[in-house]
Amino acid sequence: MINHWINGQLWEQKPVRTGPIYNPATGAVADEVVLGTADDVDSAVEAALAAYDEWRETPVTRRQNVMFAFRELVVDNSHEIAKLITAEHGKTHSDALGEVQRGLEVVEFACNITHLLKGEFSEQVSTGVDTFTMRQPLGVVAGITPFNFPAMVPMWMFPLAIACGNTFVLKPSEKDPSPSMLCAELLKEAGLPPGVLNVVHGDKVAVDRILEHPDIAAVSFVGSTPIARYIYENGTRAGKRVQALGGAKNHMVVLPDADMELSADAAVSAGYGSAGERCMAISVVVAVGDAADRLIPQVKARIAKLRTGPGDDPDSEMGPLVTPEHRDKVVGYIDSGVDQGADLVVDGRGFAPDGFEDGFYVAPTLFDRVEPGMKIYDDEIFGPVLSVVRVAHYQDAIDLINASPFANGTALFTNDGGAARKFQSEIQVGMVGVNVPIPVPLAFYSFGGWKSSIFGSNAIYGPEGIRFYTRQKVVISRWPDPMHRGVDLGFPQHGR
Ligand code: NAD
Repeated sequence: MINHWINGQLWEQKPVRTGPIYNPATGAVADEVVLGTADDVDSAVEAALAAYDEWRETPVTRRQNVMFAFRELVVDNSHEIAKLITAEHGKTHSDALGEVQRGLEVVEFACNITHLLKGEFSEQVSTGVDTFTMRQPLGVVAGITPFNFPAMVPMWMFPLAIACGNTFVLKPSEKDPSPSMLCAELLKEAGLPPGVLNVVHGDKVAVDRILEHPDIAAVSFVGSTPIARYIYENGTRAGKRVQALGGAKNHMVVLPDADMELSADAAVSAGYGSAGERCMAISVVVAVGDAADRLIPQVKARIAKLRTGPGDDPDSEMGPLVTPEHRDKVVGYIDSGVDQGADLVVDGRGFAPDGFEDGFYVAPTLFDRVEPGMKIYDDEIFGPVLSVVRVAHYQDAIDLINASPFANGTALFTNDGGAARKFQSEIQVGMVGVNVPIPVPLAFYSFGGWKSSIFGSNAIYGPEGIRFYTRQKVVISRWPDPMHRGVDLGFPQHGR
């Protein structure tokens, strides 16, 4: 039974509600997780609030040192974290290791917090007057994270929040909560005082309490678009600062002049990696002119060689989906694609590796001649289903993408610099790849889409993360000067 982590230790109280944690590879229920009540959230916030004053007063160099120690521990335990990811999420071990690495990069960015929290100073803005800014923490902040990156997405949030001097309440996905628990233990080992990071498990009940809790100053959310909108609307209504990253439908445009081998490699890797359960997965290939006729045979040939199987089998390149409900939803989308007239080129339904018949598998699936209005085009499927849309002209591809409500990532494959420049300038999407299928910025930039893929004005991690987890204070100071005494009701005229 996986219980909360509050005030630097495991929560011992008997749970009111629990939920199942599956091993997606076998289909067995492997464990249970406590589904937190409003009281549980209150206990975590109480611990975070009690730890706040001392933590924000802790010298920034010492907070940074905790991050350095945590960085070393994550490196030493990366295989352990990856094993937990594979066991509960299903993705392959090598993919899980990559996830840990991408989270680690944000920890490394937080190791530079001394530099990142520097303010500005202007001497003598008026006679004897100096002005300076500082960035101060917000207080108790919360993070609510999705199932698909159970280590990386929490690490997009808590390293920066904590290094900035906040205390943190994390509500990880109830589907794969164990990586967060190991991170909490490693942070304790790294020297983080009790109460600075707390983990409360749960579902809507815990989330709703986080959104209304008067002592939580800010909420970071990553998940699907309907829930992101809900979090943003309710969190801001309760007076909190909120950043809420939502779902995606990422298009990859292939122009007729593109290197088709490279494009096929990219479409298959970005479409089926992590069984399509990535917010930056490519789910639509927009093939311009005759590109589809040359690309699809190459994609098919690559799919035929892909090995789908348990994530802990080193021969597997793609694992199962996370839960039986999600597997059924993805299969339902494939059914609807057939019903609505798309060409099913490769059918991944009904597949299971030998000996794993109860696992939640869907093999790579490819549709051709998909069109807007079909559910497989309009909705985020979040599974190993790649759709090809054929368009006549390059401008049609740009117009199609710009009409989508989702705008997380997109990519263009071409050898034409002018076409690439037009794309990067005109496309209305937050993260753009040119011959790069999954354009995820490194930790010293920030990550965020546009439109229904994000609610709130700050992208996550990087410089935007620092801005989100701190607020600026400006100080204008003058030290008594006998020459400048006396009342003056006029508005100051600077420079005089
Ligand atoms: P989800 O929205 O179902 O859940 C995310 C979090 O919200 C979880 O912690 C969950 O417990 C909570 N939650 C779920 N339903 C809720 C409700 N009704 N009320 C309150 N809280 C609720 O998302 P998921 O299925 O865990 O993750 C997959 C989704 O996340 C996909 O849509 C994917 O595109 C998106 N995602 C986006 C990004 C990004 O950076 N934009 C990154 C990763 C995942």
